[in-house]
Amino acid sequence: MTYHGGREYLAIPGPSVMPEAVLRAMHRASPNIYEGELIDMVAGIIPDLKRVAGTEHNATIYIGNGHGAWEAALANVVGEGDHVLGLYNGRFGVGWGEMAEGVGVVVEPLDFGMKTPVDGARLEAALRADTSGRIKAVLCTHVDTSTSVKNDISEVRAAIDASGHDALLMVDCIASMGCDRFEMDAWGVDVAVAASQKGLMVPPGLGFVFFSEKAAARRAKMPRVSRYWDWTPRANPEFFYQYFAGTAPTHHLYGLRASLDMLYAEGMEQVWARHEKLAGAIWTACEAWSSGGPLALNVPDPKHRSCAVTALHIGLPHGVNLRQWCEQNAGITLGIGLGMATEEDPKGQGFFRIGHMGHVNAQMVMGTLGSMEAAFAALDVPRGTGALDAAAKELAR
Ligand SMILES: *Cc1c(COP(=O)(O)O)cnc(C)c1O
Repeated sequence: MTYHGGREYLAIPGPSVMPEAVLRAMHRASPNIYEGELIDMVAGIIPDLKRVAGTEHNATIYIGNGHGAWEAALANVVGEGDHVLGLYNGRFGVGWGEMAEGVGVVVEPLDFGMKTPVDGARLEAALRADTSGRIKAVLCTHVDTSTSVKNDISEVRAAIDASGHDALLMVDCIASMGCDRFEMDAWGVDVAVAASQKGLMVPPGLGFVFFSEKAAARRAKMPRVSRYWDWTPRANPEFFYQYFAGTAPTHHLYGLRASLDMLYAEGMEQVWARHEKLAGAIWTACEAWSSGGPLALNVPDPKHRSCAVTALHIGLPHGVNLRQWCEQNAGITLGIGLGMATEEDPKGQGFFRIGHMGHVNAQMVMGTLGSMEAAFAALDVPRGTGALDAAAKELAR
């Protein structure tokens, strides 16, 4: 007997749940890409995207996933032989660094482990040591989705400023935008990248690159940038096709318009507060379970946890069995562990992740936690009691 009939719930850290309003907006005939409604709609999307990122500067949209946005951002400000600092606390930080290496950039890694954020003092020291100014940019994830560590970007900025170094600050907000508070201009970020399929609740396929005037000045000094990645005509198009260097991603744009409308109807402060509250309920339940069994939150300090995703360790075989039980019996898919391999667990399957980004509310979180409780009972996983009660109280508080 299984109970997975009913609406499925993909509770992984992206792609996230698509709201009905987004799906309905996309369900339409192809629009004219030369004049009319679509052209006006895109002109309205750009300022609204800037508001989500907290910037008054430049916003560009690429047809591509997060990896595409990573490369787009790099292509405009660094090239073969340039050095960057890669700040790592998980697989995605490393991945952006590898993307830079792939285009000939020399990446100097600063590794902060898998459970703790960037240490500003170490960053400051590394930049101070660069007396020749070879480092052109600092790459940092806001939230590393593999570990669920959240970096304090204003502290990263403060460390760069304290060092007196003029490297660009480039931040990967793919997991965090529309979930964890992010304020590009106030926090002194030069380049921010995001994608459509996480907090922005649209299918995978759009990448966003936001850039400051300082980053634009760096772009102007680049010997060349590929026509496709070049952000200059995209940010200041003379003709509509320049927004996308070709055909517009028509249906994704209708979906994005609907999602931006939802974000503004709710209000960004409330969107961030909702994510924080729901994440708090999940952490409270997980802490209760972990008090009497093998479950452990990956990031010990709640201050450094993302409100969009939670990475957990439960060991083997529970990690595999839990996800399988939830999917087959409860219709909910939890995320696999990513980049968490150890010697005794070479595939990192003792880890799993709960995605709680975007179109998520209290009943979905309680459903997730209730399904996990049922799985633990069915699989006879030792655990502390009172998890659901604690989560309910957290939501009621
Ligand atoms: C999802 C994610 C990516 C990769 O995005 P893709 O769309 O899969 O290419 C990069 N960085 C972070 C922080 C992410 O969460």
